[in-house]
Amino acid sequence: MATGNIRVSSENIFPIIKKFLYSDHEIFIRELVSNAVDATRKLKTLASVGEFSGELGEPRIEVVLDAKNKTISIIDQGIGMTGEEVDKYLNQVAFSSAEEFLAKYKGQAEASIIGHFGLGFYSSFMVAHKVEVFTKSWKDAPAVRWECDGSPEYQLEETSERTERGTEIRLHVDKDSEEFLDEYRLKGILEKFCKFLPVPIFFRDANAKKEDKAEVKDKAEGEVEEAEVVEEAKPINNTHPAWVRKPSELSKDDYENFYKELYGPFSETPLFWIHLNVDYPFNLTGVLYFPKIKKSYEIQKDKIQLYSNQVFVTDEVKDIVPEFLMLLHGVIDSPDIPLNVSRSYLQGDPNVKKINAHITKKVADKLDEIFRNDRADFESKWESLGLFVKYGMMTDDKFFDKAKNFLIMQDTNSGNFLTIEEYKKAVESLQVNKDKKTVVLYTSDEVQQDAFVKAAQGKGYYVVKLNDLIDPSWMGQMEAKLSDVQFVRVDSDIADNLIDKDEKNESVLTQEQSTSLIDWFKSKLTNPSAVVEVKGLSPDTAPVVATRPEWSRRMKDMAAISGG
Ligand code: ADP
Ligand code: MG
Repeated sequence: MATGNIRVSSENIFPIIKKFLYSDHEIFIRELVSNAVDATRKLKTLASVGEFSGELGEPRIEVVLDAKNKTISIIDQGIGMTGEEVDKYLNQVAFSSAEEFLAKYKGQAEASIIGHFGLGFYSSFMVAHKVEVFTKSWKDAPAVRWECDGSPEYQLEETSERTERGTEIRLHVDKDSEEFLDEYRLKGILEKFCKFLPVPIFFRDANAKKEDKAEVKDKAEGEVEEAEVVEEAKPINNTHPAWVRKPSELSKDDYENFYKELYGPFSETPLFWIHLNVDYPFNLTGVLYFPKIKKSYEIQKDKIQLYSNQVFVTDEVKDIVPEFLMLLHGVIDSPDIPLNVSRSYLQGDPNVKKINAHITKKVADKLDEIFRNDRADFESKWESLGLFVKYGMMTDDKFFDKAKNFLIMQDTNSGNFLTIEEYKKAVESLQVNKDKKTVVLYTSDEVQQDAFVKAAQGKGYYVVKLNDLIDPSWMGQMEAKLSDVQFVRVDSDIADNLIDKDEKNESVLTQEQSTSLIDWFKSKLTNPSAVVEVKGLSPDTAPVVATRPEWSRRMKDMAAISGG
């Protein structure tokens, strides 16, 4: 037997990093800008502990596109690196300074550091055939230039090209990746990943600027003074998004404006929101919004954005967030959600599970709170909430337990909303068939089932509206979970018997006449499970009624949903 160390040759590992580490090449921008953010935050930390006493200024990050020279530069005014540090952090793959830094400044760090794995920097080789780094440390050390063409060889030398503190990463964009030299493409990914990073980020087109200046010179002969005032461009990011601020600092408008920032200025105002803010036993912040939803077919999923330390991770939250929570909109941010891993990994991640359970509880509590404190408001929003609540009840047992208390159904006659308990109480005395189960009579189509609805109402019964696509499956789940409730459509066979308590139901026809009439009707009906009854000829009931057993009809409804 032999033991030993696995040897990793850098020749072998480079192509692996390039090809397989990240499937999405566009994330290079996320990695490089988050390094720039880390460098800036580290400097702030050093300043706050008194180690750095120079001028901090208002550090910014610049992303400069030079399509002519086929370069993209990410420039920061952070801590920079000495030659030694470049050798230590950049020449060693999978070596991160984050742990060291956090250990040294435990409890004092300005805010959390994004970096972790020591691999992010190398994502630049996914899009660049050559990378140059110009960096000057905050310490008194000469600036250095590092260059590498993606092979394990590099150059490191002192440089006079950088005179100020901070780092420029200059990517010489590969032929295969020239798409990123397109201004809109580059700006697009910058906005996608970096829209809420905590350091202001400015985009600059190196070529456009020169042209603009030339243009200004040409036409502004008499207005030189004005032309010289160069307007400061706006940063591409909002450094203080709502979710990182204290709930007590935020007004209704702030939340609604943030919603528009996420989904565009014309998006419909959300119904309400939940501000998440946990730091134990896991770290979670975020704002979740309840959108207006009218019908199942309007559901838009994948509207939740997942962030890690304000860095965008993904908006494909399927498998990460429980199905019913996907109907919500908004942002979830957790440093416990790892940046660099696949969704299938996230699915099994214990933190992700805990986060989900927490959100589910928060959502249920919020609904319960509105229901208890402002029932009228709750009812007015039910059209949108109902679908969400039912979905949640069907898929999450914990949610079901809470939601069964605020699930409401609208009575067709009065328009009032009743909870399950209230419904039970209301029909208690009316129900003939007292075999413990309360029958909830409902209509799926008030116009078509009008005669039946009227008849039941005439007998004092409550007929509720359950007419959404998910209602048939939801009722099935309710019956499975609540042993004392049964749903029966108002026109099905048992509905009538259930509430026919006083009527004699005496027919003017003889038994034989009835039977032959029934046979005749049956021969005309196509549905083999239809039930035909001959009724007494009273003015408020139809003389002959064809109904269908609840089970057969519901099976058909559910088949219709899964089929389409
Ligand atoms: P990570 O960010 O996970 O630590 P990276 O591969 O992205 O790993 O970066 C490796 C190290 O290089 C960082 O930990 C940091 O020490 C250093 N570094 C990278 N970019 C910069 C920068 N813009 N300014 C200062 N140091 C940087
Ligand atoms: Mg990094």
